[in-house]
Amino acid sequence: MRARVTILGSGTSHGVPMIGCSCAVCHSDDPRDRRSRPSILVDVADGPTILVDTSTDLRQQALTHNISHVDAILFTHSHADHVMGLDDSRRFSQMKKSAIPCFADASTVASLKKTFYYVFDPATEKGGGLPQIDLQTIDGPFSVAGVGVQPIPLMHGSRPILGFRFGDFAYLTDTNFIPDAAWPLLEGVRTVVLDALRYRPHPTHFTVAEALAAVERMQPQQTYFTHICHDLPHAATNQSLPKGVELAYDGLAFEIEASPTWT
Ligand SMILES: [Zn+2]
Ligand SMILES: [Zn+2]
Ligand SMILES: [Zn+2]
Repeated sequence: MRARVTILGSGTSHGVPMIGCSCAVCHSDDPRDRRSRPSILVDVADGPTILVDTSTDLRQQALTHNISHVDAILFTHSHADHVMGLDDSRRFSQMKKSAIPCFADASTVASLKKTFYYVFDPATEKGGGLPQIDLQTIDGPFSVAGVGVQPIPLMHGSRPILGFRFGDFAYLTDTNFIPDAAWPLLEGVRTVVLDALRYRPHPTHFTVAEALAAVERMQPQQTYFTHICHDLPHAATNQSLPKGVELAYDGLAFEIEASPTWT
């Protein structure tokens, strides 16, 4: 089951450039230093197109990458940078002419229902302007139109959130600690997209050094760091990283092998 993963957004919650910042990275000419809010698209050959998170920048990401349909949406957690584009998913339900199945853990489901109360309130007047969302609570491996997905438990500060594994690939954003229960689920992973915010410590995100330590234990063939802030210039940072580890950038795409089951 070949699939193509596209990094729609590789930036931290502020995005890069950050509003009102005069630093060199926020004013860089390198397009890889322009980072929109974090999200990926997993497009399975002869299978579903799966969006992970509806970032604040979803509309622009969909236009930039010509995303004309989405079959399902997975949510890692309910922080604003990962969900605020949900309203724009209405184009996908309109084009698909049916509700989009959305998968999230119980706490994210509860937050989405609160933040986007009008989407889930049957009393909201229907003018064609609402996303049609079929919200499903997950608490273990599940399948999206025949593609197996394994949720990976991650800690994001004190908050438990989800990474996702599709076959030989894992998307692990927004974490500063990979708990014991996650490691067996990451065995044999070949390609990983992993949180690495910056060099300085942060209470809810991996630093570059912490992310490299996780890579050392995970031993994937290729790692791309994501959720990157304006402290890390793309070209210079990449030169300093070991072989097999690179910064992701918006628009980076690579092939993976998905699987009908999660392993
Ligand atoms: Zn985030
Ligand atoms: Zn800056
Ligand atoms: Zn977060």
